[in-house]
Amino acid sequence: MNQPQDPRLKQSLKQSLKSILTIAAEKPRTVCVFDLDSTLFNVSPRTQQILNEFAELHKPELKKVEILHTDWGLKESLVRAGYKFDESPELHHSLRDFWVDRFFTNEYLHFDIPYRGAVPYVQRLFETGCEIHYLTGRDVARMGIGTMEVLKKWGFPIEAKNLHLKPHRSMDDHQFKVDWVVERFPLDKYPPDLAPVYFFENEPVNINLLGQVRPDIHIVQLDTTHSRQQEVNVPVLKVSNFYYEEDN
Ligand SMILES: [Mg+2]
Repeated sequence: MNQPQDPRLKQSLKQSLKSILTIAAEKPRTVCVFDLDSTLFNVSPRTQQILNEFAELHKPELKKVEILHTDWGLKESLVRAGYKFDESPELHHSLRDFWVDRFFTNEYLHFDIPYRGAVPYVQRLFETGCEIHYLTGRDVARMGIGTMEVLKKWGFPIEAKNLHLKPHRSMDDHQFKVDWVVERFPLDKYPPDLAPVYFFENEPVNINLLGQVRPDIHIVQLDTTHSRQQEVNVPVLKVSNFYYEEDN
């Protein structure tokens, strides 16, 4: 499947991120849609905090376990530290329940840290007049207030109308996000030459779904971590963070 792309986007990481800024400045109807978890924000400090609290209460030796930003959830870090889940399933279950009760809450979002360059990059896009949206599988009831607080705290340009969370936790993350993009930016109203849409996302399932139904949309894959369910199978621009050097 061919994805129509501005040729400038096929250049290096530095050129790719810069090129989107250039295009946004040239085309006033440019749209950028950002995922939050593992795209704009490194969520490993959130999981680290939860693990530390569990260790404090129940199992002090877990304090030495380090969560990396490339880890998905808890299990990978514990396996790296030598824990075998088939030998202690009760530990896994109690830790998993402890994590779930905290990870998806307003309070713990405050431990997240933006990836390198994320805040100035989104700010600069906003300053070009680019339409910025934040689209997340977080749900309104458990994480709506904290999500807005944390975006403001770090200086991301944000208004309530540009923040989109799942109306209910029971909804499927992947279908929610793809449906939202497809309905919000119909091709006839957002032709790529006049109103290009850029979708920044870490999760291959979301990337593949959107890339298959809307090959006109430019997808920027944050190569951070993901659910390990799929590999990306549509054209993307792959970056590891939002940092790039300015030309002097
Ligand atoms: Mg994500």
